[in-house]
Amino acid sequence: MNLCFAAEITLGKLAKWLRILGFDTLYESDFPNSNLFDLSDPERILLTRTQSIRKKISSPNLIFIKSDHPFEQLKEVIVALDVKRTDTRPFSRCLRCNTPIEAVDKDSVRNDVPDYIWETHNAFQVCIKCRKIFWPGSHTRRSMNLINELFEL
Ligand SMILES: [Zn+2]
Repeated sequence: MNLCFAAEITLGKLAKWLRILGFDTLYESDFPNSNLFDLSDPERILLTRTQSIRKKISSPNLIFIKSDHPFEQLKEVIVALDVKRTDTRPFSRCLRCNTPIEAVDKDSVRNDVPDYIWETHNAFQVCIKCRKIFWPGSHTRRSMNLINELFEL
């Protein structure tokens, strides 16, 4: 299943979570000058929690989010689309700009990460668009625990 999403401005944390899971997710605040829902291709699943948008857009690809809590919102999406653990690719996408990230040579990031990070880590990934560098850390482990919890539902 190759899902992609567009999340409205009130759903920033949900958008980030979908990117953590590896899903291509546009986030409204990244497009201040255009209407997100006009930008989106027809296959993109629209995520909103605004009643007026729900009424205006009669797309079968619209999911109306009910919860205020980001993790509960993520559960709503997972349940609505019957997403399986195997549909996800955690930590494969840039959380900042939504671009796939790639593994890079440790030596190539020597001057781009703090010394103590470089000395204590061996696996680095870089965003091919914004050049942000990622490495596994305590945040990754916490997120992995939440992802496991998510798919046990
Ligand atoms: Zn990026």
